[in-house]
Amino acid sequence: MQKIAFNDLGAQYRCLKEEIDAGIAEVIEGCHFISGPQVEELEQELCQYTGRRYCVTVSNGTDALLMPLMAYGIGPGDAVFVPSFTFVATAEVVSLVGATPVFCDVKEGTFNLDPASLREQVERIEKEGKLKPRMVIPVDLFGLPAEYPEIEEICKEHGLLMMEDGAQGFGGELGEKKACSFGDVSATSFFPAKPLGCYGDGGAVFTDDEDLYKKLVSIRVHGKGDFKYDNVRVGLNARLDTLQAAILLPKLHAFDTENAARRWAAARYTERLKDKFCTPDTPKGYTSSWAQYTLKAESPEERAALTGALKEAGVPSMVYYPKPLHRQAVYQNLGHQAESLPVSESLCERVFSLPMHGYITAEIVDYVCEILNNAKK
Ligand SMILES: *Cc1c(COP(=O)(O)O)cnc(C)c1O
Repeated sequence: MQKIAFNDLGAQYRCLKEEIDAGIAEVIEGCHFISGPQVEELEQELCQYTGRRYCVTVSNGTDALLMPLMAYGIGPGDAVFVPSFTFVATAEVVSLVGATPVFCDVKEGTFNLDPASLREQVERIEKEGKLKPRMVIPVDLFGLPAEYPEIEEICKEHGLLMMEDGAQGFGGELGEKKACSFGDVSATSFFPAKPLGCYGDGGAVFTDDEDLYKKLVSIRVHGKGDFKYDNVRVGLNARLDTLQAAILLPKLHAFDTENAARRWAAARYTERLKDKFCTPDTPKGYTSSWAQYTLKAESPEERAALTGALKEAGVPSMVYYPKPLHRQAVYQNLGHQAESLPVSESLCERVFSLPMHGYITAEIVDYVCEILNNAKK
């Protein structure tokens, strides 16, 4: 068997080479490297895809999460609720604006924010009375939309804003609604390894709120007002390169085909592993984009044995994530933290993700499953 890739971006390029190369050449020949026409074209197509009214493409997923916090004026004294089991950027942006991230636990089966833990943390912060609860950032971890109906209920009760961290979620669905259309505002990332990835850094913010949209457009270019050298607020240089937009357009056109292939591969993994392993939960009505296919070992020792067996057989695997955010050094000095978030802590010791992408073959999936089933005691 050929070398197995964790995420085979080479196979994708070989499939889409003609369109991607033509798109890149067009940008270079047109010399419109910043805010070229492909950027707006991409934004329109992303609106169509997600069903959102407005899309602002940006420099990366972290800026996509940061800019709405800036636009809403969230800052010192404000509490923003985030899951502890996620990539650090979800909480980092909260700290960047001077607000305080408050970590909540997740559910063992879906890896996503547990509404019961969220409610507990919101009520704890309200009772303490030191911080003002402002926003919740649910994460579509590994591609599965968070429990938006339940979370929305809590947001309504407590007057909180909601921002979807859809960095891994693009292509997921909950009922009729697409990922990146939940909450007041949504953010996604086009980092190469995400479900929709470019050839460098990129991201996008989505909203249906015209006023927020206008602020985001301003923040994206140094807080501009009516024109570039009229500055009305503190902003960033957070544009998406025209080249990346030109690369994303053909990838977006191929996205549904790749997404279907990931779903097929995930179903095949589950079918072959479910008797011996804890496979990921996809609750009724939810569809994952399968940014990752993640298993849970019974213990850290078993995880080491299983990932060791995979490695020996030439199969790459990854641990997303080895440490919960509330245990990270950067967050050790925060007040107002929960003592322990047991599910997040336990998951970090047991999870591991398998090769997953839109070009994976039945042969590879079956080979990976065979190794795991043989290695399992
Ligand atoms: C990747 C990721 C981000 C950050 O995206 P970048 O484009 O790398 O800045 C934020 N949140 C989550 C959950 C992610 O997986």
